[in-house]
Amino acid sequence: MCGIVGYLGKRNAYPVLIKGLKRLEYRGYDSAGVALLTDEHKLNVYKAKGKVADLEAYASDKDISGTVGIAHTRWATHGEPNTANAHPHMSSSGSLAMIHNGIIENYSVLKKQLIEKGVEFKSSTDTEVLIQLIDYIKTTSKVDLLTAVRSALRSVIGAYAIAILDKDNPDEIIAARKSSPLVVGIGEEEFFIGSDASPIIEYTNKVVYLDDEDIVVLNRNKEPQYVDFDNTKVDHDVTEVDLNLAQIEKGGYPHFMLKEIYEQPDCLKDCMRGRINVEANNVTLSAIIDNRKHLINPRRIIIVACGTSWHAGLIGKQLIEDFCQIPVEVEYASEFRYSNPVINNQDVVIAISQSGETADTLAAIELAKSKGAFIYGICNAIGSSIARATHTGSYIHVGPEIGVASTKAFTGQVTVLTMLALALGKERGTVDQQRYTTVISALENIPSLMLQLLEQGDMIRDISRVFTYAHNFLYLGRGYNYPVALEGALKLKEISYIHAEGYPAAEMKHGPIALIDEEMPVVVIATQNELHDKVLSNIQEIKARHARVIAIISKGDETVKKLADATIELPETEKCLEPLLASIPLQMLAYYVAIAKGKDVDQPRNLAKSVTVE
Ligand code: GLU
Repeated sequence: MCGIVGYLGKRNAYPVLIKGLKRLEYRGYDSAGVALLTDEHKLNVYKAKGKVADLEAYASDKDISGTVGIAHTRWATHGEPNTANAHPHMSSSGSLAMIHNGIIENYSVLKKQLIEKGVEFKSSTDTEVLIQLIDYIKTTSKVDLLTAVRSALRSVIGAYAIAILDKDNPDEIIAARKSSPLVVGIGEEEFFIGSDASPIIEYTNKVVYLDDEDIVVLNRNKEPQYVDFDNTKVDHDVTEVDLNLAQIEKGGYPHFMLKEIYEQPDCLKDCMRGRINVEANNVTLSAIIDNRKHLINPRRIIIVACGTSWHAGLIGKQLIEDFCQIPVEVEYASEFRYSNPVINNQDVVIAISQSGETADTLAAIELAKSKGAFIYGICNAIGSSIARATHTGSYIHVGPEIGVASTKAFTGQVTVLTMLALALGKERGTVDQQRYTTVISALENIPSLMLQLLEQGDMIRDISRVFTYAHNFLYLGRGYNYPVALEGALKLKEISYIHAEGYPAAEMKHGPIALIDEEMPVVVIATQNELHDKVLSNIQEIKARHARVIAIISKGDETVKKLADATIELPETEKCLEPLLASIPLQMLAYYVAIAKGKDVDQPRNLAKSVTVE
């Protein structure tokens, strides 16, 4: 979840590391730290609770020299977010420093053994156990660092991306990964390490994505050396990343989240590019063409995902059942992975994850694979672990998403799921030709309708200001818009810290209505469809209990306008595509409520962007 960055080369490492940490800060931000090795073999470690800016302030009067270093932003799993628990962690001898992303599951057993051998601990993290173990093996067995790392990693259970500095060897960084991402950047006589490519691309576009159980030795005077835990050489191709700086910077917007909300029309065009052809009346997903035999006739489809991706999955279920007539189940990956699902080789599992690194989703994939299912991934991050672990898949191609609260990735996922349902439905002959044609051209038109909606930003900001008093919100929707209600509530919770619940509108009577009073605003997605009258009755019921209603309505719906306290009009589209439009005002509502409450929308408390731990 955290951010890892490392540098070895001719430049001063500190500025590279700090800039890299800032680019990675969205991944975790409860504390930050840096370790630098000076030319005089001095290992300086600086740490601070809070943001990277706090670390910079702390280090401002310190010795920040050195051309090799490692740095970290933490998202605490073991031990509270304080300076002692911040990374890098040092071994007791003071000779090794390590940064770590992930969890050492068996840390308590290892810690007990090390304490019995006289090792003293300074933090309550799982991470410190690993670096102490490595140093213990290195000194007691009198082996080199690589051998000690290999040996220690064999006795560790868990997930990690690590990078280690050795005081006695200023020419080297050793890094390794298992179940947590790690990228090596290859420059001109310099190397970089990152949890993803964002801290690297400013300097080089040549990267190597490490695989699980890979160790890399970066030495100033040599080519990178890749080995596995048994010291067998591993070959890696250098990949060229297709990312530019503008994509990972704010581009004039005050927050990444707002930039990403406004990017959605362009992102969805990118997502559909080469896949939708209105003239040819066709949707093409190469994954479906290449894997027809696995996908055309499955017994059922199981969608596994977490958080926002799970909400996209709920929409995907409706789309696939609607167009393909295949039964679909949607599971939380975290529950699925520990269940005993009845799956066989006639099932298809669709795994959805923006980062492609979500630990629970990866584990769910492995479980489904072990039972013979065919796995289809829907990810954003190119080359990510999930993209590599699945049999096939479709990228959503919306560009890097940095704001912790997902926006464009959600609409990208829904767009891919729509194309998937259309393409598969066509292959199976389960979609009516006329409907196929209508939905394709309506989908292609979504970006321009989104632009119209985004023009209402100021109006939505004004509405939002009225509702900052609330401690609770209810979000209601039906059919395709029920998952949109869930997602709208999640957005508000994530960034404004207001409690919010999403419900199918008709379920309101079975419980949540007890909560409704003048203090609890209700957001209702009340577009015109066959359930419109029912939702209208729900709005009446809410108004009878004096709550304020914000309604997302179809353009020109005067009936709801008269009832609701505030309305946001959606341009007309196909019912199955409404989530793509209805989610936009809800993203903006959450954003502006959080801003009005003075919250840090890009880095909400306790959250991290890619959840690479369980
Ligand atoms: N488990 C480690 C800790 O709590 C690393 C957490 C992270 O990935 O940031 O310090």
